[in-house]
Amino acid sequence: LPLTPAGQTPIRALTIAGTDSGGGAGIQADSRTMAMCGVHACVAVAAVTVQNSVGVSGFHEIPPEIVADQVRVVVSDIGVGAAKTGMLASTTIIEAVAAVAAEVGIGRDRPIPLVVDPVCASMHGDPLLHEEALDAVRNTLIPAATVVTPNLDEVRLITGIEVVDDKSARQAAEALHALGAQWSIVKGGHLRTSELSTDLLFDGDRFLEFSSARIDTGNDHGGGDTLAAAITCALAHGYSVPDAVAFGKEWVTKCLEASYDLGAGHGPVSPLW
Ligand code: PLP
Repeated sequence: LPLTPAGQTPIRALTIAGTDSGGGAGIQADSRTMAMCGVHACVAVAAVTVQNSVGVSGFHEIPPEIVADQVRVVVSDIGVGAAKTGMLASTTIIEAVAAVAAEVGIGRDRPIPLVVDPVCASMHGDPLLHEEALDAVRNTLIPAATVVTPNLDEVRLITGIEVVDDKSARQAAEALHALGAQWSIVKGGHLRTSELSTDLLFDGDRFLEFSSARIDTGNDHGGGDTLAAAITCALAHGYSVPDAVAFGKEWVTKCLEASYDLGAGHGPVSPLW
């Protein structure tokens, strides 16, 4: 992505998500990717997780009106070219975020594109979203998405579709689009049927495929956040959704190659090079 000369105001983007005390995923992954992409990261904290490389042992939700207020003050003063959501934890936070997004012009068919990463659980299976909030993800959050970026576990929880091959991946992309997302991505990184990792992008009309070499590493914490943050950066720069996804895919592949050991568990997918 183009960098801004020193001293000039760079492109800004907003992440509305949860923190990771271990610095691997969530808001930390988003801010790191945005900084490395030359984008100023604004952050609206929705939840604070108690987390290290081994797992998430708890989280604290920020009051919904405080989440919405963070979004409101950032957009009215600093201005952002794109936004993303990550861990939102609860129905009431999702509803507050959807309402403030509509108010300030964030979301599909609005001036500021929105990437929705519908975070449900960590890769260790620790919950990051209350189960009863899945209805709000389907009915309130996804309909506001310019792009929705679930992993295969999230696809199953949201649509009920178990993705096992290309056909079921296409069905899942159609189901996510039918929920109201302008574009849906079904990520193939966890589908071990090919040498390649292929993500499928769908806009209700055409399917586009984005493939990269599969990088086998145990240090894959925060990969989904990193992909969604990179797509957000490219959208903030005015890229089309397919071009932003192509950039995001390239970016997350480089970050997987650069991932490192941290603690006793899974190290982060990280753009520190
Ligand atoms: N913690 C937070 C705050 C997150 O947003 C996420 C993922 O989106 C995770 C943890 C889990 O990351 P992973 O599934 O890569 O462990």
